[in-house]
Amino acid sequence: NSAFQHLQQAPDDPILGVTIAYNKDQSPVKLNLGVGAYRTEEGKPYVLRVVREAEERLISDRSRNKEYLPITGIPTFNKLSAKLILGEDSPAIRERRVCTAQCLSGTGSLRVGAEFLAKHYSQKTIYIPTPTWGNHTKVFSLGGLQVKNYRYYDPRTRGLDFEGMLQDLRSAPSGVVVLLHACAHNPTGVDPTPGQWEGIRQVIRSKNMLPFFDSAYQGFASGSLDVDAHAVRLFVTDGGECLVAQSFAKNMGLYGERVGALSLVCSSESVATRADSQLKLVIRPMYSNPPIHGASIVATVLGDRNLYQEWTVELKAMADRIIRMRHLLYEALRARGTPGNWEHIIKQIGMFTFTGLSKEQVNFMTREYHVYMTSDGRISMAGLSSKTVPHLADAIHAAVT
Ligand code: PMP
Repeated sequence: NSAFQHLQQAPDDPILGVTIAYNKDQSPVKLNLGVGAYRTEEGKPYVLRVVREAEERLISDRSRNKEYLPITGIPTFNKLSAKLILGEDSPAIRERRVCTAQCLSGTGSLRVGAEFLAKHYSQKTIYIPTPTWGNHTKVFSLGGLQVKNYRYYDPRTRGLDFEGMLQDLRSAPSGVVVLLHACAHNPTGVDPTPGQWEGIRQVIRSKNMLPFFDSAYQGFASGSLDVDAHAVRLFVTDGGECLVAQSFAKNMGLYGERVGALSLVCSSESVATRADSQLKLVIRPMYSNPPIHGASIVATVLGDRNLYQEWTVELKAMADRIIRMRHLLYEALRARGTPGNWEHIIKQIGMFTFTGLSKEQVNFMTREYHVYMTSDGRISMAGLSSKTVPHLADAIHAAVT
């Protein structure tokens, strides 16, 4: 008899479970468009050249050791990460109002942010978009916040429900936390325009709400690190406070190294100093301190003018390949005369296309065409290549006709 006799078999994670099902499939034409990880035109995982170079430098530096990092990680990594998202000339950084903690990628940064807010912020409710990344609800609720939703995506237009979003924010209680995807909204690929961001900013500031940015795709959406940071910087420039969770999983291809950062942009240096001290109390009993390797890679790349320059080139090449896949898929559907309007494939941005395919159509494509994706019809464009686009187009065509 086991102390755990009562346990029920838990379902696979809705996103990571797609890969498990894919791995079991024996078909030579099988295609995994579930998980959001970049693949080369040959369908292979990609380690950036600048990452290899940084690793070689780190390994050959015999003065390095394996001592524990401080609770909030590598100080230069933290400074450089904040500068990357907030901008070279950010007033908040200049005024020393930002505190940053190296955390376990985007997820860990969100979780630490949630626990910090649950402990120290007056409001315990966070509003997240419908739909959003599947893990958000669990990260925030287990982090101690109550989760509510605001309207975001309009299935009719396959675009932003801007009016619905503003209405929901206006009728939410003052002061609540609002989660915003900094760019390349996951899963919809639909972002507000700069003008719409300004409207969102005005509502959030007028209601004294606390914006919490999730920045998992900086540089991956447009190919430009600055363009993709626009929304965050808009909110920082007005002098108000916010939180930012950054991930280096996608833009530096460091998925499994778990490198990210949580920044608190505070109203003054004195608040930031106290917030930093409290962040340490949140982190210490969770995992003591973060791992060395991935953050050292990021600090090396961000801190070296040449490596940084090369990184922006590699990043743009990845973003461009994804954008090319959008055009190839769109053209392939047009060539097949597939019923429906598929313009959203080229309009949406970032790693994913929210196809609008139903759960039944997704099941059909998996069963008949060995194409794997999340059941909400989200496909990872980064998992496509010019060789596999025709097969996907055939599958979509068959599913909708
Ligand atoms: N937020 C969003 C919106 C994401 O899409 C992801 C990655 N899928 C993450 C956060 C976190 O990813 P990671 O923990 O691997 O950095």
